[in-house]
Amino acid sequence: MLTVTDAQALILQHVHPLSPVAMPPGASLLGHVLAEDVTADADSPPYDKAMMDGYAIRATDLTSGQAILQIVEEITAGRIPRQPVGSGQTSRIMTGAPMPSGADTVVMVERSRLLDPQRVQFDDRPPKPGQNVLRQGREMRRGETVIAAGAVLRPQEVGVLATVGRSTVAVVPAPSVSVLSTGDEVVDPPDVPGVGQIRNSNGPMLTAQVGRAGCLPCYLGIARDQLDSLRPLVEEGLCADVLVLSGGVSAGKLDLVPDVLRQAGVEAHLHKVAMKPGKPVFFGTRRRADGNGSVLVFGLPGNPVSSFVGFELFVRPALARLRGRAVAGPELLTAALAEDFSYPTDRTTYHPARLEVGRGGWSVRPVPWFGSPDLLGLTRANALLVLPVGDALHRVGQSFDVVRLDD
Ligand code: AMP
Ligand code: MG
Repeated sequence: MLTVTDAQALILQHVHPLSPVAMPPGASLLGHVLAEDVTADADSPPYDKAMMDGYAIRATDLTSGQAILQIVEEITAGRIPRQPVGSGQTSRIMTGAPMPSGADTVVMVERSRLLDPQRVQFDDRPPKPGQNVLRQGREMRRGETVIAAGAVLRPQEVGVLATVGRSTVAVVPAPSVSVLSTGDEVVDPPDVPGVGQIRNSNGPMLTAQVGRAGCLPCYLGIARDQLDSLRPLVEEGLCADVLVLSGGVSAGKLDLVPDVLRQAGVEAHLHKVAMKPGKPVFFGTRRRADGNGSVLVFGLPGNPVSSFVGFELFVRPALARLRGRAVAGPELLTAALAEDFSYPTDRTTYHPARLEVGRGGWSVRPVPWFGSPDLLGLTRANALLVLPVGDALHRVGQSFDVVRLDD
């Protein structure tokens, strides 16, 4: 049986970033991967710029720190200076305004005394030549690459895209992800579960996981464990970039999902992973009719925590790669066990846990949890503690791999 790491590597071999699209700068760009090198269209600042409200002077006029200078002009931001500043002269200047020719230094207004509208007195330490002036092109030079392809866009990058005048930019789009629950016993609210029935927690939960991964979920409802219920919904789900199913993938009598997928032309790449919870994970691909890559298909076991963990370990990294992320995850940390913990297991176990910053680094404590149906136990967790095979008693302070779930 494949290990989790081997399964993750195998899945990523079949995943390629989606083709770029053009999007305008704004909140919708957040988290997207840039698909082009973005260059500066002009120097920034485009001129030598005052960084303070004060007086534009020639530093050589104030080598002693003391002088009375003649005011030739007032320059506010957005105005073009008209008067050169000669020796013995100064211009009153506001933050952001272009420096007048001749001046090289700005003395802040608090360090001056206005004698009358035409004269200002300085009596202080001598200014450093060039102080409070941002030189043309100091931030960026025209033609220079300011954000390289592959960058994950955050608000500061969005601001730079606007600075260089981009009205659209090429990014890797968010994949569309269909979510399909399966099971004769599964009911959606407002139905009250009868004997042997269970509420459909996985549909909304997986939809939320898709959303958290920055992708566009499309919830298809519940398919019954019958071929004529499964087939059309699977076919609908295959129209998206990714189809995620829950339930019906194990070896039970009515676990029809793998067969239905094969009949729909999905090529199976894996169908079991050595892990707990969630061993019977299915992953396959179907080539698109237009020849444009493949649809990814994940079948996750129906127990809610199995579905959740399978999504975090296998689906989420695949979505990250589809989005063009170089690092697909999941993020693995090393943490020290906060208390002794006995957990005999015959398969690597991803146990719900709380990860905290301890004195010497990360600290992890398993939360009470009774297994794959216990979704409420998972709400007390922010991480999965990776427990190795064996019947070892794990000791406080021992180091473990931990999958971080929350940002
Ligand atoms: P399966 O993987 O179909 O064998 O289902 C395993 C267990 O998960 C069964 O007890 C199901 O009732 C339960 N289950 C399946 N689908 C869901 C769902 N959408 N929400 C909650 N529990 C489910
Ligand atoms: Mg089932």
